[in-house]
Amino acid sequence: MHARSLLVAVVGLSCLALALPATAANTPCPSDAFMDVSNSPGAGKGYARPRVEAKCDGEELVVSSNAIPHYEFVQITPNPLVELNRDYRMPLDPKLAEQPSPLPLLGPSGVAINGIPLFGPNEGPVPPPGFGDPVYNAIMDSCMGHTARQYHYHALVETCFNVAREADEPSPILAFGSDGFPVYGPYGCRDEECSEVIQYKSSWEQLRAPRIDTWDAYRFVPKEGAEYLDRCNGHSADDQGGAYHYHATATFPYIMGCFSGTPSADAGRASDRQNRRRDGGPGGGSGDDPRPTAEQVSEAAAKLAIDEHKLAEALRLTDGRVAPMNFAAAARALEIDARDLYEALGVTAQVPPRGARGGPGGRRRGVGPQRQGGRPPGPRPQGPRPRQ
Ligand SMILES: [Zn+2]
Ligand SMILES: [Zn+2]
Repeated sequence: MHARSLLVAVVGLSCLALALPATAANTPCPSDAFMDVSNSPGAGKGYARPRVEAKCDGEELVVSSNAIPHYEFVQITPNPLVELNRDYRMPLDPKLAEQPSPLPLLGPSGVAINGIPLFGPNEGPVPPPGFGDPVYNAIMDSCMGHTARQYHYHALVETCFNVAREADEPSPILAFGSDGFPVYGPYGCRDEECSEVIQYKSSWEQLRAPRIDTWDAYRFVPKEGAEYLDRCNGHSADDQGGAYHYHATATFPYIMGCFSGTPSADAGRASDRQNRRRDGGPGGGSGDDPRPTAEQVSEAAAKLAIDEHKLAEALRLTDGRVAPMNFAAAARALEIDARDLYEALGVTAQVPPRGARGGPGGRRRGVGPQRQGGRPPGPRPQGPRPRQ
């Protein structure tokens, strides 16, 4: 019996030894940051129970949830609350990328500690011209969530996660970005000794009312002061021992402004594209990613006789900003007429230029990324954009 116990112990140890290198040995699994929603009140009568599980699998943090809130659902948008079972995979040991990258224009950019997906700070293309700031447009519930294809957050409210925090305590982790970096609540220690708890602030400035076309309504302006965050709404500061992290903020971009790390291939964009295909293309709902596919970009580049990579670049990183998509700015960067770009990509205008009138029947091409926008580009695409 002794020999057998010993054998079991040895086998057990060798399994452990084999497992260690594959499980990012130096990175503790942050599964404890996630809520136990099993005893929560749930969304209400007739809705599925909320479900969230977090575990570490090799080099990844895997969060499995059904996107049902653990608190009473209050309907704000026309979409019903439905279960959306999926896994969110993100790097367990995130690294800063050489350059920040844009959030998906729609679809998850991370997941909160209760399993609800995070979306970026813009709404979808419906109703056109769309892409407004949903917080500004007051279409969020008191926890800054609402439904599209799934219930999701555009901002984070600490108290909605059962956080009972004293004024002199820093905020806990409320979410993780798809790049694996944690998102803390807005309050953090000023320094390593936590001599003072301060409220962290976005460095983005509002240029106009963001009723539509949110990414054009704000500008990132770096600021002095420990309380100000970078473009992506994060920093590598002493409040977390120098490790990079994001903070939820009271103002745009509310959660993250871009990815400072590298989002896992599974997250956001890629899965949304698959969903769009699965949902049957045009009219597939406001949860779709309206960006052009690689094939559309390739075709458009050929039509416009410009370099495919240049076009792809301009569509993602226009005006030196990291914005998910801004067709007008992309056209400016490429020094081409925005109308030609819309035409080549088979899209309708994101925002009609000043004085534009909806043409007869709109220009609903069916396959275009912005297919739900009904108004065609007008005569002065490079002129001043409408101010609302
Ligand atoms: Zn939304
Ligand atoms: Zn911080």
